[in-house]
Amino acid sequence: MTEPSPVFLRHSRQFGEFRFVYPVVSRRAQGVSIGVNLNPDKVCNFNCVYCQVDRRDPGNKVFVELDRLREELQTAIRLVQSGELFQQGRFSDTPQPFRRLNDIAFSGDGEPTTYANFDEVIQLAADVRRAEALSDMKLVLITNASMFHRPTVQRGLSLMDENNGEIWAKLDAGTPEFFAKVARTRIPFTRILENITQAAQIRPIVIQSLFMRWNRFPAWKEGRLRPIANDSTTSCVGEGKSSWCRFTPSPAPQRSPSFPRSVRMKSETLPVA
Ligand code: SF4
Repeated sequence: MTEPSPVFLRHSRQFGEFRFVYPVVSRRAQGVSIGVNLNPDKVCNFNCVYCQVDRRDPGNKVFVELDRLREELQTAIRLVQSGELFQQGRFSDTPQPFRRLNDIAFSGDGEPTTYANFDEVIQLAADVRRAEALSDMKLVLITNASMFHRPTVQRGLSLMDENNGEIWAKLDAGTPEFFAKVARTRIPFTRILENITQAAQIRPIVIQSLFMRWNRFPAWKEGRLRPIANDSTTSCVGEGKSSWCRFTPSPAPQRSPSFPRSVRMKSETLPVA
């Protein structure tokens, strides 16, 4: 098996003098993903056991300045489109097929949907996308799904729907007990399931899970992911892998916090980058 290019392992959120925007070459996106960090203060409402954000180093206590964010997004997009980005040291070994812009991704050092004016930021990104005539470019939200019930987030998700949006919601557990162990949050597991289920009634969403070993025991083997693994087509497990499953909308709204059995999923296992 050939080794992946080192460019795929570089996920630094520092890019020159930029504060909120950072390009990365993503194997999954098969191109450049322009990250937007709405949590430069590194505050998150989860405290996942595997989180890679280094919170020993305090973040910047800065508000997200929308004008600056717009300017940084435009500059980053133009650097990718002109090819200038790939002349910079850290991007110079980007394989040719990956020298393309795929998306603007809301991710960063915390949960992006906790940002108070989430819909404003999505509108800003949609405006930049339109102004740069990038109708193929996606808007991607990487989220823990904890805030979908907020009106500002629901407005933001609707704006994403209108602008080639894609939601990647993480779900690493199938029981409240295992969820509490992994996510280490006061937010109830039922809220996450309800939020994901309701969002999936409106548009397809992607579930991203990390199937980890817990005390050297493969965590999924006790059915800990049963709520997302109740469809016979599901095979999205892999030791030491991260996986994703695509949920398509179910025809009728569900009252139960469990996922409907009719939801179809497909999966792919990816090596952890
Ligand atoms: S939700 Fe994401 S940023 Fe927050 S603790 Fe978990 S992995 Fe880290």
